[in-house]
Amino acid sequence: MLTAANVVLAQPAGAAPAGASGSLPSLGDNSELSAAAERRIGDRIATAIYRDPDYLDDPVLNDYLQSVWQPLLAAARARGELGAEIDERFAWQIFLVRDRSVNAFALPGGYFGVHLGLIATVGSVDELAAVLGHELSHVTQRHISRLMTQQNRQAPWMIAAMILGVLAAGKNPSAGSAAIVGGQAVAAQSQLNFSRDMEREADRVGFGVMLDAGFAGRGVTSMFEKLQQAGRLNDNGAFPYLRSHPLTTERIAEAQARQQLAPTAGSKPGKETVAEAGKARVLHTMMAARARILAAPGVDALHAMVAEARQRVSALPALSALSAQSAVESPATAANSRDAGALYAGVLAAAQLRDFAGARSLLARLKPLSAPIERAASAVELLGIELDLLAGVEPPSAASFDMARAGARDQVLTQARSLLAAQRAADVSGRLQTWVAGHPKDAMAWQLLAVAYGSQNQPVRAIRADAESRAAQLDYSGALDRFKAAQGLMRSSPGSADYVEGSIIDTRTRQIESLVKEQALQDKIDR
Ligand SMILES: [Zn+2]
Repeated sequence: MLTAANVVLAQPAGAAPAGASGSLPSLGDNSELSAAAERRIGDRIATAIYRDPDYLDDPVLNDYLQSVWQPLLAAARARGELGAEIDERFAWQIFLVRDRSVNAFALPGGYFGVHLGLIATVGSVDELAAVLGHELSHVTQRHISRLMTQQNRQAPWMIAAMILGVLAAGKNPSAGSAAIVGGQAVAAQSQLNFSRDMEREADRVGFGVMLDAGFAGRGVTSMFEKLQQAGRLNDNGAFPYLRSHPLTTERIAEAQARQQLAPTAGSKPGKETVAEAGKARVLHTMMAARARILAAPGVDALHAMVAEARQRVSALPALSALSAQSAVESPATAANSRDAGALYAGVLAAAQLRDFAGARSLLARLKPLSAPIERAASAVELLGIELDLLAGVEPPSAASFDMARAGARDQVLTQARSLLAAQRAADVSGRLQTWVAGHPKDAMAWQLLAVAYGSQNQPVRAIRADAESRAAQLDYSGALDRFKAAQGLMRSSPGSADYVEGSIIDTRTRQIESLVKEQALQDKIDR
């Protein structure tokens, strides 16, 4: 898609900002948009995205994105591209969007969007890093802020509305409802882009960042090749990224030259060994398969994926011929990774078609392919838990779950969902509590915790967890309603919460109250 910032260059027809009389904030002056002001615009957009039905928090795919995103951020920081102020003020958060089209975009305030279609289409983790590194660099180089500063005296609420309008217009209409509605941005969409210089800078900076983060620079050229091919096929509709990032021969030539000059390996030693690349490929093909299925491709496509997986299985050596030992020794070849991707897709597709026996037999064939690779094996283990959940099968005891991966959100949340479905809330609330203590802005974890407390007959805690989940998605007034409900419950039934819980709720109520007031005040100023 059009990087959402593009649109702010547009002077929409008849959209002279309300109250252009001088009560407007700093935006219009010659001064650069402050990081705080840009973040506020970003927060408005984020608030709307959280409410959009196509906003998707899939812990498995999000953890995969984070495994690319965090090294890129760290590299940008180490290279001095990420200024201290925006580092602290911006969100640096990626939204996953349930949309089959190939797109990634940067938003004001350090928010980013990634369509499922992008993950499904890129051929390697390096290609994914190439796209994300480029978008990240648009923000670190303050391109968005520069574009918005050029938006002479445009009210921030209007900028936010226009960007939301572009997001809505850019959606693949077949991908589901487009609840995001906004300003009159449609007309602006085709006209405006980051300047050519900005694109070149994002290419150059992004390339350095991705190399330093340990990714292979050829991800850029192979991504360009993919886009070029799509462009030749006139396939732009499915590749909105191509619309906002036209491939000029100059861009391609520069990327090729850059790659030839770069060291063949990433600066992180060892990352580029053949074995490592093979392992990354197995995980990537599985994650790409997951993205394809979560994009809801339709029943026919699901059947085709199951058929494809079965065909692969028939070409694999018999299970009995595979000892665990030989699996460990089997190299992560390209063929293996294609098999792993097809089988992962087959398991999930069969499960969605409610053919659980078929899913299970494919899962049994997938396990040996992923076993030698820690991250891939873990993804397959989670797939098994998901399959049981869909099939309504009682999960193993909490104790039998592998808890080994520290900080693994996908693991914590998938296991929690499974145990909650089996009415075993007592097994999960402690672990979720620990998790939210370390990740207080994890809305999904708070939501699961609310369910856990609810089913353990702890209504005050349940309401508080629900409140925190609203606050984490920037719905402060929704959060405040719930905090007040929790206070009311504590008053009406003494003993429903202990002293510590009670004082946490009082403190949080005051904090959220002041956020609500601040937001209302800001709304007035922004208009
Ligand atoms: Zn760009």
